[in-house]
Amino acid sequence: MEKLPEINRIADGVYLINEFDGANCYLAVGCEKALLIDCGTGVCDLNAAVRRVTDLPLTVAATHGHVDHIGGAGQFDGVFVRREDCRALNRIQTAVPLRKLFAATSGGMKQRGAGAKDVRRYPGGARLIPFDGFRADLGGKTVEARHTPGHTRGSVAFVDHEDKIVFSGDNVCDALWLHLPGAASVERWLPSARWLYEMSGRYRVFWGHRTPELDREYIGQVVRWGEEILSSNKRNTRLPRFARWPDRPDGILYRTDNIFDD
Ligand SMILES: [Zn+2]
Repeated sequence: MEKLPEINRIADGVYLINEFDGANCYLAVGCEKALLIDCGTGVCDLNAAVRRVTDLPLTVAATHGHVDHIGGAGQFDGVFVRREDCRALNRIQTAVPLRKLFAATSGGMKQRGAGAKDVRRYPGGARLIPFDGFRADLGGKTVEARHTPGHTRGSVAFVDHEDKIVFSGDNVCDALWLHLPGAASVERWLPSARWLYEMSGRYRVFWGHRTPELDREYIGQVVRWGEEILSSNKRNTRLPRFARWPDRPDGILYRTDNIFDD
């Protein structure tokens, strides 16, 4: 039988769709249109899951161009992704081999009984639609993208003003990844994190994995860790080295040759 992901309502017309612990996707439903934020790795029929909630015209957009957020793009007509995350590096992340690799190595998915065998093939491939600015008027709900470079150079947060929710992707979290190819420097990430901290005073913040809602104090702590990385280093190293600050499981992962913008 077809596996369907778990769907939970988090506000009026706003739903969390958990793709088998691979990623948290979000669905905002207005009175005229619906917006799906992130489309997972593509290990289930996410489109069918959306259709259980609404039959309104659907727009799909992604917080960033990583496999667990755009891997399922091929099941939709197209997915809006900020321009910096539509490079060859990101297109590879919609391809079956990388999606299988992610599904095979995701501990969360395994626990939920999903894996590489569930990765679906999309005959038409995936269509990423680059954007610089994004705003979706859903009818009684408006969702806007804010560029928040860091985790990737094209990371965005989606702001739902009516429901006072920010969908922040993977840009501030425990064990934040700033070390992968395509990531911005710690220096460039910090203002995005400060913006999220400031927003979290008035908005609820939901991110892309694990416990979906982020706590304001935790966001503040991650901001301070970023400030400590900048104040304890003078310049980038010439050779790349992986580092973690602070040295605890949820510390920020970064590369010593990508602390500052050159
Ligand atoms: Zn990511």
